[in-house]
Parts: sequence; C-alpha cells; structure tokens
Amino acid sequence: MTSVHERTSLKHETQKDISLYINGEFVASESGATIKNINPFTNEQINEAAEGRAEDIDKAVAAAREAFDNGPWRTMKLKERMAYIYRIADLIDDEVENIAYLESLDTGLPISQTRNMVSRASENFRFYARMVESRLVGDAYQVDDEFINYTINAPVGVAGLITPWNAPFMLETWKVAPALATGNTVVLKPAELSPLSANLLAEVIHKADLPKGVFNVVHGYGETAGDRLVKHPDVQLISFTGETTTGSTIIKNSADTLKSCSMELGGKSPIIVFEDADFDRALDACIWGIFSFNGERCTANSRLFIHENIKEEFVEELKKRVANIKLGNPLDPETEVGPLIDKGHYSKVKGYLDIAKEEGAEVITGDIPAEIAAGNFVAPTLILNAENSMRVAQEEIFGPVMAVMTFKDEEEVIKMANDIDYGLAGYVWTNDIKRGHRVAHQIEAGMLWVNAQNVRDLRTPFGGSKSSGIGREGGHYGFDFYTEQKIVHVSITDHRIQQFGK
Ligand code: NAD
Repeated sequence: MTSVHERTSLKHETQKDISLYINGEFVASESGATIKNINPFTNEQINEAAEGRAEDIDKAVAAAREAFDNGPWRTMKLKERMAYIYRIADLIDDEVENIAYLESLDTGLPISQTRNMVSRASENFRFYARMVESRLVGDAYQVDDEFINYTINAPVGVAGLITPWNAPFMLETWKVAPALATGNTVVLKPAELSPLSANLLAEVIHKADLPKGVFNVVHGYGETAGDRLVKHPDVQLISFTGETTTGSTIIKNSADTLKSCSMELGGKSPIIVFEDADFDRALDACIWGIFSFNGERCTANSRLFIHENIKEEFVEELKKRVANIKLGNPLDPETEVGPLIDKGHYSKVKGYLDIAKEEGAEVITGDIPAEIAAGNFVAPTLILNAENSMRVAQEEIFGPVMAVMTFKDEEEVIKMANDIDYGLAGYVWTNDIKRGHRVAHQIEAGMLWVNAQNVRDLRTPFGGSKSSGIGREGGHYGFDFYTEQKIVHVSITDHRIQQFGK
C-alpha cells in the first residue's frame, strides 16, 4: 500500500486542470470559464475545472442524441456492448488506488473509506452487465388460442445523470453503469465541489474506447449546467441524487419536457436500540453509521432512539468512543473522520450546534487540534436530551452529528421514528426476532436493516419514501427507469373485427 508521502508525489498529476468530455474529446468550456477546485483539508486550490454552461450541455446532449439515434451503441449485439462494460470495470480496477486518492483529496473522505468505496465501483459495471445479460427479459402472455402478447425492453434515449459530492465516484458509477448497459447514452453532470474522480471516469471510458458521444461529462454549477440538462428537450431521463429541495426544483423544471425522473434525496434516519439488543454490536454500528464518511452520508443514522433502561450506559460508552475518534488528514490511513466538503457546508453544520443549544439540548463535542485547523473540521458531536420536535432532530445536518433521544416502548418509538418528513433508511437493534421484523415493517422508510449496519446488496431496490425520494434504482428495479417497456400484441388467429360502414 502506498504511503501518504508517496501519494503526495502524485500531486502534480491532480494539478492538471480538468476539461469537459464531449463526443469523445476532452474540451474546454465554450466560455472558457473555470471553477476553482479547493482541497477541504488545506482550503488551498487543487486545480481548476472547466465550467460548463447551457451551451456546453447543448453540445453534449447533441453528441449523445446523435450517438443514440445514429450510432452503433443502441443496436449493437448485446455481447459486444457488454464487452465495453466489462472493459470499463477492468480499467477502473487498474486505477483503484489512484481514484481513492483523488476522492480523498477532493472530498476530505478518509482514504481507508474511499479505498473500500472505490473498489466496489467496478462491481457496479460488472453487476449491471450480468443483470442485463440474465435479467433484462420480457414476459409473454397467452390469450387463449388467439393472441400471444409479449413485452420487450428498449433503451429510452439520452440519460441526464446529476450527482452530489458526498460519495462522487460510487454514485456516478451507480448511475452510469445501468444507463449504459441498457443501451442509453449519457450526459453526466457531477457536483461542482468534487470534479476529480468524474474526470477520471471520463479518462477510463475514453480508454475503453466507447463509440463517440455515448458518454459525456459536463462539469459546472447546478443552477446553470444542471438546469439546462433538466430542461433540455432531447433528454428523456433525469436520475438525480442530492438534496430534497433540489430534487423538488428538478421535478418542476423537468415538467415542461415530461421527463422521467428518479430521485434519491436526503435523509434523517432513525436507529432504534431496544434494551435486549446486542449492546456492543449496536454501539459499533451506531458509531459507524453516523461518523463514517464524515457524517456526510444520506443513510446516516442521525437520530438515535435508545431504550430508557439502557440509556445511561449506552450514552456513557458513546461519549468515550466519540471522544476517541481520530480526526486528521484524509490521506492518512489512520484517519477516521476528515474535513467537511467546503466552508459553506462547515458553517451550516456548525450552525446546527448553535441551534441545538438554543433549543435547549446538550451538545457534546470535541476540540480541533491546531495542526489540522486549516481544514473544515467539525468534531464528532452528540446532541443529548434532544426532543423529536427540535430542528436538530428533524432536519438533515449531513455532518458528524447525532441527536440522541430515549423511548419507553415499541409503540412510542415507532411513532417518534415516523414523525418526520424523511423516509430513506432505518436500523433496528433487538434480539427479539418477532419485534425486529415488526418494527422494520412499521418504520416509514425505503430501506431497513435489522441487527446490521448499512450493508448493501446490489440486487435489492435502493431508494427512499416520503421526502427522501421517488422510485427505486438497484438490481432489476433500475430497469423500470432506464428502459422503456413495450408490449407487442400478436394475433395468431383471425379474431373478430367490427365492420363499421360495411
Ligand atoms: P445538491 O442537491 O446541492 O446537489 C446535487 C447535484 O445537483 C449537484 O451536481 C448540483 O450541481 C446539482 N444541482 C443543484 N441545483 C440544481 C438545479 N437547479 N438543477 C439541476 N441540478 C442542480 O446536493 P449535495 O449537497 O451535492 O449532496 C448532498 C445531498 O445529497 C444530501 O441531502 C444527501 O442526503 C443527498 N444524498 C442522497 C442519496 C440517496 O441515495 N438518497 C445519496 C447521497 C446523497
């Protein structure tokens, strides 16, 4: 494994400025404008990324449209298209260490965590290649001896993919893989705060030698580049991951062109620990679930409901462990929590600690060591004596901050857990098997885990309910979004036809 010191020798590579990737070429933006890309650990500039605007989106969509309508991608033999998808996966594997490094540099996520995340990205491609080969199948319906009706799945067209900064490479590949494997062409608009790994994905796909225009990347701001992609009449699909308010704006803006939208939005997920739970495992999972990925995790268990009989002991252990969490340079493999993505987000998260105090909760937080004070660090924080109605218990903070509440019984905790706008994930800890299932069934959320931390199974549906999302991606569920289902009705006899006007 390369050391931090060796890795910094790669610095010159990352200081290369970043271009857009349109129609198989790396190009500057039409306006020549750029966005300064800042390192969250030092707040110094890493490099600049071309700032794509409406005219660049128009170019990328035109390339993707041409590739879809007249290029070989949509109609080539499945085996040939899947060979490209497998090649992308192999090329990602060759770059895992480099991508993990870029991701940590760009986002502040600890390298021990980006390594894991990035090593799963190639599997997103392999998984979808296998899924398309084995599960993209139609149904046949026999109607007596008169008809055979059958369904087929066709690619939809140009897919606009809009992604956030919190797990950039993972989320980009999570969308790009099914979109391409099912035969669509793609325009990706990555988050403006984390362009490095999206650029590397463009380099990988360029090396894989996909037909021109099949895959395009336009860096830029959401309000300009993202907005144009959402409103573009030649784009059929928008798959979006990001904040709930942005999702709502996108749905409104896509209405005039009647796009199909998949929405993976914010969360404020409960973890419920009953008194009979495996105490140590629940504690480990609870800490990991809120403080991994710097707390910038959509499925974070940011609301802990602890049974009142074990509250004191659990909170004491939490305090000890949280005080021990290692903050530091995200490129150091020992670091457990790194700096937040940028100063704006840092101020937002810090602001919530003030709000918690104003609301009457107790804030347990740590100091930031002087040697890392240049970074956007918020120490892992517990908000004790929180109440479910407080803003800190209701709003997504998206940082290393957990609100702690107690409950008396099952009925009460289900009510509290559901008394919120969000519905992304939920975690239940109990050794009573019936109660585990029962509570999981009653929590209003798209994804539940019982006696487990957040472990993904790529075959299962991913997505949220309520204000956390619309639709499901993952597994074959993604086919509903990335393909158009058609039904073909075939008469196999001379069935009766009305003879008007005869
Ligand atoms: P964000 O909504 O600010 O931005 C996400 C993306 O949308 C960026 O690429 C941005 O440029 C673009 N965008 C912004 N305004 C736009 C507009 N008007 N039109 C088109 N595009 C626009 O989100 P963020 O701060 O980057 O990410 C954090 C959020 O993402 C959190 O709320 C988190 O919970 C959520 N998230 C959800 C999931 C999930 O699967 N449900 C996963 C990861 C993150």
